Amino acid sequence: MRSPRVVVVGAGMSGICIAAMLRDAGVDTVTLYEKSDRLGGTWRDNTYPGVACDVPSHYYSFSFAPNPDWSRIYSSGGEIWAYLEDVARLHRVTERVRFGVEVTGAEWAGGHWRVELSTGETVPADFLVAATGVVHHIREPDLPGLESFAGARFHSARWDHSVPVDGARVGLVGSGSTGVQITGALAGRAAPLTLFQRTPQWVLPATNPRVPDRLRGLLRRFPAVNRATYRLVQSLVEHTLFEAVLKPGLRRRAVELACERNLRKVADPALRAKLTPDDQPMCRRLIVAPDYYEAVQRDDVHVVTERIERVEPAGVRTVDGTLHELDVLVLATGFDPHAFMRPMNLTGLDGRTLAEEWAKGARGYRSIALPGFPNFFMLLGPHSPFGNQSQITVAETQARHALGWIERWRRGELDSASPTDAAAERFNRQVRAALSVPGTVWVTGCNSWYLGDDGLPELWPWSAARHREVLAAPVDDDWEVRAVR
Ligand code: NAP
Repeated sequence: MRSPRVVVVGAGMSGICIAAMLRDAGVDTVTLYEKSDRLGGTWRDNTYPGVACDVPSHYYSFSFAPNPDWSRIYSSGGEIWAYLEDVARLHRVTERVRFGVEVTGAEWAGGHWRVELSTGETVPADFLVAATGVVHHIREPDLPGLESFAGARFHSARWDHSVPVDGARVGLVGSGSTGVQITGALAGRAAPLTLFQRTPQWVLPATNPRVPDRLRGLLRRFPAVNRATYRLVQSLVEHTLFEAVLKPGLRRRAVELACERNLRKVADPALRAKLTPDDQPMCRRLIVAPDYYEAVQRDDVHVVTERIERVEPAGVRTVDGTLHELDVLVLATGFDPHAFMRPMNLTGLDGRTLAEEWAKGARGYRSIALPGFPNFFMLLGPHSPFGNQSQITVAETQARHALGWIERWRRGELDSASPTDAAAERFNRQVRAALSVPGTVWVTGCNSWYLGDDGLPELWPWSAARHREVLAAPVDDDWEVRAVR
């Protein structure tokens, strides 16, 4: 067996995933480059109060590393981060990470990748895997006067824990999944908490009980029960939420009714009107939260819907002339999910560059590869299944596909493989066609981060099962394979 030099860009969830699978398959020549000093990606970066995953933990786990000890149905960010660190240690990934080093670019030359690092080094690789995440590049709002704010100010993914929030006048810009979780956590602590909401969002109710010790003991003793729990939750999520997203019908109506009923928990009609979206549930990423409507009905939580005119040293001035005086300003304003692995640039066959290929939007082949870029794989690349999915499960499906090619390389069956232009074009035509027909809720008229430059979502428009099916085995005709010289 040959030993492939595999470079993985990023040691977040998906980088850990493929590196663990490679290590388990006996590939020791894998190196992860991580620009930060700790692994964990988004779960390292997001430490804001209330951070949690709104996908049930027994499903938001690697299938090869089930965790019987999740403390709740929806675990905290800290618990997920600790889980990822454990998986990385147990699967001997951590020792393969070079921390504090960024991959700045890579060029396919002489039958392998020449990977450029921020240290000035260039290292060779037979395979290159972009595991750079989606909610990674933070987006600061373009608010006039933001720099002039005299209090503490930070983005939700850069929470400054040295700043006291208890008893402080906290302003929160943004009411996406992050803003809603922060609202639940800071209600009753900040005095007051002022939420600047630009667009209201639908919220699906949830309860988040502790997993009883006896059940955890059972899952620990009987791994088969733990695996069955994963499958059960996967089936529930895929057959309810995901199907509801893809086509109108009873399931979609059921989600709509659940959201509408949840909103009726808000007793004050004026506040309820402020919180009522004018788009359909799930057109934007659906928020799942146990405590949001309770939080916003507190006397010490104010929902402000007047537009922000500017930020001043003392606080935020809205267009009605009111100055909302603040000690702390939190920007839960999201990320640029369309960057993917950029600004890293790639140069593939015949001088093709990623910058040119993606000038009109990010696209590839089956969410995993790019024509003209041999032995290169993306985890959570464009047109992956996103939304209220377990992104761990999606990354694992993609990593398994990449591993299949790497195994063929190890056996000496090929030197390089990349999808053909024709196959990628066909795939993108199919994606556009599937997204253009009225059917998926994403194109029912809302402004979501799912939408790319062409106004269509950069999402997988079919079922999660189909994603697994098409990535289960490569279609050889779709790939240009170069044999061993
Ligand atoms: P987001 O969904 O993009 O929400 C950003 C919020 O900031 C929106 O309410 C947006 O308003 C507002 N905003 C942006 N610029 C603004 C401006 N200039 N003035 C006023 N408001 C502004 O970001 P996010 O909440 O951080 O979530 C991003 C993604 O991270 C989620 O969709 C999800 O995939 C992931 N996430 C997951 C979980 C989980 O539990 N699994 C938790 C948190 C985050 P508009 O709506 O009007 O644009």
